Amino acid sequence: GQRGAHPPRSVNVQVAVRCRPLNDREKSQGERSILQCDPIRKEVILSASGLQRKTSALPGISSGKKTFTYDHVFGMDATQADVFERVVEPIVDEVLEGYNCTVFAYGQTGTGKTHTMEGRRDADMVAIAQRRLAENAGIIPRSVKQIFDHLRSLTDEHSVRVSHLELYNEQLSDLLGPDHDPGDLLRVYEDPQKGTFVQGLEDVVVRSEDEIFAVLDRSAAKRKTAETLMNKYSSRSHSIFSITIHIKQSTPEGADLLKVGKLNLVDLAGSENVGRSGAVRGRAREAGNINQSLLTLGRVITALVDRHPHVPYRDSKLTRLLQESLGGRNKTCVIATVTPGSSSVEETASTLDYAYRAK
Ligand code: ADP
Ligand code: MG
Repeated sequence: GQRGAHPPRSVNVQVAVRCRPLNDREKSQGERSILQCDPIRKEVILSASGLQRKTSALPGISSGKKTFTYDHVFGMDATQADVFERVVEPIVDEVLEGYNCTVFAYGQTGTGKTHTMEGRRDADMVAIAQRRLAENAGIIPRSVKQIFDHLRSLTDEHSVRVSHLELYNEQLSDLLGPDHDPGDLLRVYEDPQKGTFVQGLEDVVVRSEDEIFAVLDRSAAKRKTAETLMNKYSSRSHSIFSITIHIKQSTPEGADLLKVGKLNLVDLAGSENVGRSGAVRGRAREAGNINQSLLTLGRVITALVDRHPHVPYRDSKLTRLLQESLGGRNKTCVIATVTPGSSSVEETASTLDYAYRAK
């Protein structure tokens, strides 16, 4: 019988690794690939043999090779559709059933977090207008399409709202709100009834794919401004795009049943300042580049996976914000992005470790 059986471990936290191809700069510098991805066995093999420098700082790898296993592995030939169908489509189904789910992109700057989450935006508008997706479209446009395709098939009353937040240096800003003074930042509150909420956050009602993309254009413009005002904004900020869906169904008995689901799509700050143990590297600490939210997220996920009684949600803004969406019955997926380039061996080992410990 099932009684007393050990519950399936961490079934609600999935970890995927995606490796991009070597880019032109890496190729022109004669870098070779240090990663082998096996999507069937769900393994990534890092081989550091032959690398002269840097490997002494990599325990367990200096000897040559190390194999990591994940829930999903995507090699350099994986398409945007492959990643979406394998990892995200089932999560969107859960959201449509009334759960809160979160997909994170984690990794070194330049390894494909934004590519994975957004893809190329330029082709989206035309494609979406024709109710198809551009090949390069990432998780955001694909999720949006899946949601509206589903809603169009229903006769039930429904509504869709989106919000877009950014978190830079533990300060929140609303990418959809009216222009505030730079000092006029949003605050997170905890309410016994409403749960965690952000005071004054714009939650925009959207009726179709086209409207969501108009909203994303608005936030892209705001982001551009932030980019010019703040140092290394795009690599240091977290972007949180959330879609909330209300569906009102009638039961056969004539009662109303309200399903509320939320999908959070999070493009995290670059992981380059977080070391293998989750500790902050010396130089990064001196420069004040500690990314509290990134560190705390790792600890929260580890605590959830280990079923630790204390989950340190309150230690960062990001985890406070997502508190109601992480843990319990809610599904979470971390997509760790890496480059195969040999010059990034330390960062890559660090990302593979972070993602591995998240299981
Ligand atoms: P990040 O957001 O992690 O800093 P980006 O998503 O901006 O990284 O990716 C850096 C560059 O690499 C971009 O030009 C992007 O188009 C390209 N790129 C990333 N992942 C892939 C991939 N899987 N296939 C092809 N190009 C990619
Ligand atoms: Mg990016």
